[in-house]
Amino acid sequence: MHHFQYKGDELYAEEVAVKDIAAQVGTPVYIYSHATLERHYRAMDGAFAAVPHTICYSMKANSNLAVLKTFFGLGGGVDIVSGGELHRAMVAGVDPAKVVYSGVGKKDDEIEYALKSGILMFNVESEEELDRIDLIAGRLGTKAGIAIRVNPDVDPETHPYITTGLKKAKFGINIERSLEQYKRAAGMANLDVIGIDCHIGSQLTKVSPFVDTVRKLKRLIAGLRESGIHLKYFDLGGGLGITYSDEAPPLPAEYGEAITAETRDLGLHLLFEPGRNLVGNAGIMVGRCLYAKQGEEKNFVIVDAAMNDLARPSLYGSYHGVQAVCRDQQGTIVADIVGPICESGDFLAKDREMPAFRQGDLIAFMSAGAYGFAMSSNYNSRPRAAEVMVKGAAFEVVREREKVEDLIRGERIPSFL
Ligand SMILES: *Cc1c(COP(=O)(O)O)cnc(C)c1O
Repeated sequence: MHHFQYKGDELYAEEVAVKDIAAQVGTPVYIYSHATLERHYRAMDGAFAAVPHTICYSMKANSNLAVLKTFFGLGGGVDIVSGGELHRAMVAGVDPAKVVYSGVGKKDDEIEYALKSGILMFNVESEEELDRIDLIAGRLGTKAGIAIRVNPDVDPETHPYITTGLKKAKFGINIERSLEQYKRAAGMANLDVIGIDCHIGSQLTKVSPFVDTVRKLKRLIAGLRESGIHLKYFDLGGGLGITYSDEAPPLPAEYGEAITAETRDLGLHLLFEPGRNLVGNAGIMVGRCLYAKQGEEKNFVIVDAAMNDLARPSLYGSYHGVQAVCRDQQGTIVADIVGPICESGDFLAKDREMPAFRQGDLIAFMSAGAYGFAMSSNYNSRPRAAEVMVKGAAFEVVREREKVEDLIRGERIPSFL
């Protein structure tokens, strides 16, 4: 039972009618359910109750301060991939000892900022990065906690753009080379070698690739022990999928059971980096129908939200459920839902049977809480959407809709024009 449900013919977010939010805040708008965020966090956290663990929410999925604050209040940390994300997390009150830093391209100033903030560890993704972090930590007179992100060469069987653990991927250090790099890291004066990390991809709908990965990494951990390298943390990354349409991913409890069984005897503190699983189904995006147009061969529902607001359909061909905010439409149509952007790739739904939307109707795009607003842009000089959080019968704007003045902030006409 989730928290975006109809009462009669009206779609609600918890106890708030979605149409009331749209009337007050305008469209397009992202709406997040606090109760759903909390439920998803507790499900993941509870799945590992039997073993020492920390949930380091992968904040690139949705980095709104209100979302972060919700998870921090429940005891979570974060997985960051940039200095900008660290800044957001610090502003939202993260415990730096629960921050892990992933990403293939960490810059000097970002490494420095993370060291000064006292994060738990860097998930190191290349051999050169080890030297870089050692150098910067030395300059600051501190020690950097590190894990090597091991690329296990396991196929997560998901979309190629979000597959990260195959040999051909840019991520991590190949498993065959990892032992040698661990030995090198252990010899560096300013590194504290405390962990091992992996992240094989996103939107996984099976447990087996996770289990295969753990088994491969366990062999490496055994090799490390033989070499006198004793770790504290085993970071299993994120990637557990959600239901957008008819996918049936394992529940956090099943995932927890399988991982716990595989890792229990290691005696390591587990870290998890779930993103999508915590936030995906905790958010919707709502747009308004501007025009309903019958083309020669197709029907188009033209809305005030576009690929700049929700990029996933254009980027990955992803499916988002489409629902009427008020179910008073007569009949259904087969149509594309498209935005105002001047690109044929600007669609939110394709060849979909849907209510016969008319001008002025509000349309909810479901499962938009992950990689939704976070991936939005200003393409076509479109101000980015507002974000709202609902808790029970209350709602507040947690990010104002951008204004046209925001679009040109920082721009200058040069003196020679
Ligand atoms: C994106 C990412 C995650 C989160 O992936 P989800 O599929 O959203 O759970 C976790 N760890 C790393 C390193 C990532 O890049």
